[in-house]
Amino acid sequence: MSYPILRVHRDKIRENGEIIIRESAKNGISLWGVSKGISAFTEIAETFCDAGFKVIADSRMENIRRMKEKLPDAEYALIRIPMLSELEEVAELCDYCLISETVTLKALSDICERSARKVKAVLMFDMGDLREGFWHTEIDSLAQELCSLSPYLKISGVGANFSCASGVLPTTENLTELSSYAERLEKKLGYHLEIISGGGTCSFHQLLHGRLPRTINSLRIGEALLLGYDTAFCDNFPMLNHDTMELEAELVEVRTKPTLPIGLIGRDAFGNVPVFEDRGNRRRGILALGKQDVCIEGLTPLEEGVSIITASSDHLLVDIEDATADYKVGDILRFKLDYTAMLSASTSPYVTKVFEGK
Ligand SMILES: *Cc1c(COP(=O)(O)O)cnc(C)c1O
Repeated sequence: MSYPILRVHRDKIRENGEIIIRESAKNGISLWGVSKGISAFTEIAETFCDAGFKVIADSRMENIRRMKEKLPDAEYALIRIPMLSELEEVAELCDYCLISETVTLKALSDICERSARKVKAVLMFDMGDLREGFWHTEIDSLAQELCSLSPYLKISGVGANFSCASGVLPTTENLTELSSYAERLEKKLGYHLEIISGGGTCSFHQLLHGRLPRTINSLRIGEALLLGYDTAFCDNFPMLNHDTMELEAELVEVRTKPTLPIGLIGRDAFGNVPVFEDRGNRRRGILALGKQDVCIEGLTPLEEGVSIITASSDHLLVDIEDATADYKVGDILRFKLDYTAMLSASTSPYVTKVFEGK
């Protein structure tokens, strides 16, 4: 097994899932487990299912195809609004799909009709974060368009996304507003919309703080499940595990060197002019880990007295002067990952993935 290694503790993620499901069920909320943050490894999809998730949601058809082959009994949702060019696959493989364009709805409707495949669409509304979503002024014309769709494409609800493009948070106000769109659509359509999907991890945070209106009955959860953390509110969920995974890398050089570079300073490998503080001679290490493996900014050293100095494509420099252990070449250092680090390490082909527990 070669380093760097992304070591994932599945039992801790499963536990997170069970807790999130339990807390949500108390409030009549059903959940989609979002797998995209960790590249939808089937080992993780299995853990989601073991925790009790019935629907697995991902942003890539490639991931959904792979998971469905391994776990055919789960339901699947595509949560990036689809490309026209992938709608055949959506009809073939997805139970649910988020949509925010009438042209896409019509095209998917035609494919569903022709292939006699059923898909449930959740209509996304933009509540101010300015990523995907219909605008509220479009509701009447949208309702009209919906009436001409194939019965194979069922409109199963509305949804919104928060804290993504612009950092806009879900609140009682904007979620109540979203629910009112569902009501308006129901009146026009003459049938009940099952799902009012109020967002992701940050909406779960709001649920725990009693700020989610009772009309919200569905959430799509990724980060809380995988990391026990909420980036939008910069908050750990006290009830969840935060040590669900770590990244391990091997030391290839250990030496005491000056902290101030010697010579004229030009630009570093990425075009930046680095700035250093003179702290005298200090012990430092080079890890065989770099920007090709992971987004370095998202790493926090787990070993005491270790701090990150800088990194290039393949080398991570760490200060180990204050470390309690006497590190030598060949030793392994571990790092905690934030969402971006998890995303990048899981997609990097250079990082070995190890799944422990069940
Ligand atoms: C990624 C994503 C989610 C999950 O968000 P988390 O903050 O990780 O819970 C939910 N909905 C959509 C549309 C997404 O793209």
